[in-house]
Amino acid sequence: MDEETYTEVNKAHADFLGFEKGELKSANLFDIFRKDEAEKCLDNNKTLIKNKEKVFHEQWIQNRDGYKRYLSITKEPVFGSDGGIKYIVSSASDITDKKIELDRLKEKEGNYKEIFDKSLNGFALHKVITDSVGNPIDYVFLDVNIAFGNLIGLSPENIVGKCVTEVLPGIESTTFKETYGKVALTGESIKFEQYSEPLKKYYEILAYSTSYGYFVTIFNDITDRKIAENELNKKNKLLSDVFESIQDGLIVLDTDFNIRYVNNIVRQYYKENSPFEGKKCYSVFHNRDKPCKQCPTRRCLNTGKSEFEIINANTSTENKWAELYSYPVFDNSNENISYVVEFIRDITERKKVDERLLEIEESFYNLAENAPIGILTCDKDGNIEYVNPEIVKMMGSPGEEYTKKINVLKYPPIVEIGFSESIKTVLDTGITISSFEKEYVSKWGIYACLRAHVSPLKDTNNDIRGAQIIMDDVTSNKRNEYKLQEYAKELENLNETKQVFADVLRHDLLNPIGIVKNYTDILYKKEIDESKLWILDRIRKSNKKALNLVENAGKLAKIECMDNIEFDNLDLVKLINSLLDDFKSDLDNKNIDISFICNESCFAKANSTIKQALSNLIDNSIKYSPPDSSILLDIVNSDNYWKIKINDSGPGIPDSEKPYIFDRFRRSGSQNINGSGLGLAIVKKIVDLHDGDVGINDNPKGKGSVFWITIKKSN
Ligand code: ADP
Repeated sequence: MDEETYTEVNKAHADFLGFEKGELKSANLFDIFRKDEAEKCLDNNKTLIKNKEKVFHEQWIQNRDGYKRYLSITKEPVFGSDGGIKYIVSSASDITDKKIELDRLKEKEGNYKEIFDKSLNGFALHKVITDSVGNPIDYVFLDVNIAFGNLIGLSPENIVGKCVTEVLPGIESTTFKETYGKVALTGESIKFEQYSEPLKKYYEILAYSTSYGYFVTIFNDITDRKIAENELNKKNKLLSDVFESIQDGLIVLDTDFNIRYVNNIVRQYYKENSPFEGKKCYSVFHNRDKPCKQCPTRRCLNTGKSEFEIINANTSTENKWAELYSYPVFDNSNENISYVVEFIRDITERKKVDERLLEIEESFYNLAENAPIGILTCDKDGNIEYVNPEIVKMMGSPGEEYTKKINVLKYPPIVEIGFSESIKTVLDTGITISSFEKEYVSKWGIYACLRAHVSPLKDTNNDIRGAQIIMDDVTSNKRNEYKLQEYAKELENLNETKQVFADVLRHDLLNPIGIVKNYTDILYKKEIDESKLWILDRIRKSNKKALNLVENAGKLAKIECMDNIEFDNLDLVKLINSLLDDFKSDLDNKNIDISFICNESCFAKANSTIKQALSNLIDNSIKYSPPDSSILLDIVNSDNYWKIKINDSGPGIPDSEKPYIFDRFRRSGSQNINGSGLGLAIVKKIVDLHDGDVGINDNPKGKGSVFWITIKKSN
């Protein structure tokens, strides 16, 4: 068989090639086709002969007229009875149109493939794998582009053909099966954003199905956008936090007075008008149909500058006042206003306080104006700021304006008396100087003695800004004081006179009494006539009484002249013991037992006159006690005082007499006992001089009395 030579052709074949059927009979392939076409044809024939099998091939064939067609050629062997190939039957069909369409598609696909491969977005085509009941369990990557590979850090060759559970271990814990399974099996596309922790990137993922069981994912790296968005959100959040934390109302308006934003303070304040955004401010806040006349925002829009106004901000329930500041916000060109920011501060309380302060100020002003004391304020340099009418009067100045011209640090009459220096000290140190007196003669010739009180005036920063001087005209007091001093002097002289008088009187009285005593004693010794002796005894007793009276009266007069006495530390125990020695013979005469047991010293703040007081009390207790009785002397510790108690068993003092028993010449039913009625008065006076107390109680043991005195302990 000759594989290069035609044996027979049909008419369609000959027509296609542009030959007569007869011309092709026994024609060589190289005579009919162009060389490359003939060679390809020959190769196919040889393959067929070699393999003894049918071959297919497609190729462009050009006919005799140069007209090219794309043919699909099938060649089949025809075997002879010897088993060898006898003929090759070749049939061709014209698939030129199909080929052109296919090439066009291929070209298109090539373009898409390039886009697919070179795209910055990650593309992946997947096929879902389902279990026996059709539930998605995994998906396999059919194709991925380079960008997708980069996303997961693998080259496309290492991804394609593998299951996602293989490529991305750990994905099992996510909802990938449900998410993508739904897309692939229902055809429903989804779009979502996801953050990849290992890649530290944000992706926008679009998944859609191309056909049942297949789906495509497109990964768009939105990290930059997302970061920018987050930054913006953070900034917005910060801004909104700042706005919301501001304790003043904040409103953002556009240039048409439309509200764009209000903060929480405004929302709370105008609760009932909510929502605000998009509405006109004058309608929401003032119930008007056009902007208010006094509106600072209106001015701000005209001037382009910040504006301010105190406005009435009444709500439906409250009458309120507010400060309103309007600030313009310009666009990028800095020429046009984009927004106006309004700050509103509720000043209702402040206004109330201001009004109250004004009232207080008014009442203080009235108080100062009508005060009977002088009030003056000056600045740090001593210039008078305020004087009340009383000051004007005190200085004898012709009027307030003249007084105000005085500088309190330089005005000579004040400087001379050192008053300016005191004011300067207060201005320099801030220490108040209170109640000091100064005498001066004013410029207008007025003499006055003023008691002044200078205190600093401070500003809101607590810095000294001046001084406040309060002055009291104590001229008449001063005069009285001088008079009093004179009286005191006179009195002192008088006391001295009285003392001298008492001494002289005592001396002059004791002298005749002494003479009477001496002569009576002489006569008594010589006389033997009983009746004369009785008379002489009466004279001696009366004379003794007179002596006693004069001595006690003298003592009392002396003590009563004392005002201030000096105190020593005296041990009362020692003092009483020595006194008891003096009374030894009196005690023996009456066989009276006196007990005073005190081992410790009792120091008191006392004058030596206290000995006289104690002596009088002991003397009385012996005098008024019956013979053979006993007396108890005791010192009791009583806080700051020593209480000295003398208990006797004499007649006692009736309750009705007790309040008066320390008065002068008071004698309580004891006319037969020798006495002057001055002893207890002396006791009381001495104890008074010691700032102590005297008293009398009934003897708790029954008959008798307890006389007591208290004396301050020494420190
Ligand atoms: P006289 O010199 O009279 O004793 P006093 O002033 O010492 O004067 O006492 C006044 C009066 O108080 C006495 O006359 C007496 O009646 C009464 N009196 C004083 N001490 C005692 C006493 N211990 N017991 C009873 N009566 C007393």
